[in-house]
Amino acid sequence: MIHESFDRENDETGGWGGSIHGDISNPFGGGGGLLSPLPKVDEDKSWENTKADCVKQKLEAGGANSILNNLLAGFKLNSSVIDVKFYVSNIDYRGKKVKNGMCVYNQTTKKVYIYLSENRLNKSSLEVARTILHESFHAYLYGKIHDGAIHNGLAPDPDFVTDFNNYAKVYGKGSSNSAQHNYMATMYIRYMKEGLKEFFNSDPHYMEYASNNSSDDRWNLDSMFEGLAWGGLRGTDSWKDFKLNNPAKVNDFNLQLSYFVNSYGFPKDCD
Ligand SMILES: [Zn+2]
Repeated sequence: MIHESFDRENDETGGWGGSIHGDISNPFGGGGGLLSPLPKVDEDKSWENTKADCVKQKLEAGGANSILNNLLAGFKLNSSVIDVKFYVSNIDYRGKKVKNGMCVYNQTTKKVYIYLSENRLNKSSLEVARTILHESFHAYLYGKIHDGAIHNGLAPDPDFVTDFNNYAKVYGKGSSNSAQHNYMATMYIRYMKEGLKEFFNSDPHYMEYASNNSSDDRWNLDSMFEGLAWGGLRGTDSWKDFKLNNPAKVNDFNLQLSYFVNSYGFPKDCD
């Protein structure tokens, strides 16, 4: 039996999804399973030379210390039994289109599949960076859950198993997406923010944009990174609490996301 857990990030207001038990094969047919001599972190042909590829390289530009590298570092170890592969695709999973991205872990093949939807590439490259990071946080969690202690890139987390099981109790084992989103929102939001900041600072288009708009009061980079980091996590209890306690911040986030990131022509290019 194939056992897959998956997350698909369908929209800004957050997730749904769960764990599937059944005969669901990898939509890309892979099939090689454990016999394939794949590198531990790999990119499909569909990924190569796309904007997603370019954005991922910028996310990794900080080398070993970058957030993305820390998320993926465990998978690159020889002792890792799980591989990760990145794809760009029009994802249609179980009859529903995925808007932004999806992360699937297949327990039989021991592979994590990260999909970025083709439509996502039409957005600003900062939004592409956000989705790559979001799905990579899922990959990191799958690594921690299924291959334990080698996934410590962000911080040592000796109580992870107990901690995460508590989340699973509250948010449902059958809905790993909800447990993972709540865990991310509580434990990792500052790392998400940091990862976005790294992307921004490594992209000359964004640096130029920032310097041209720095006189605008509404332009607050720190707040914008934080607002973006919550994307895909707005279905969580942490977000509900945050919203209740920080209404002014949430207004800022919404303005920055709609005004700067999504309508005012944030740079789409990555080169
Ligand atoms: Zn997600």
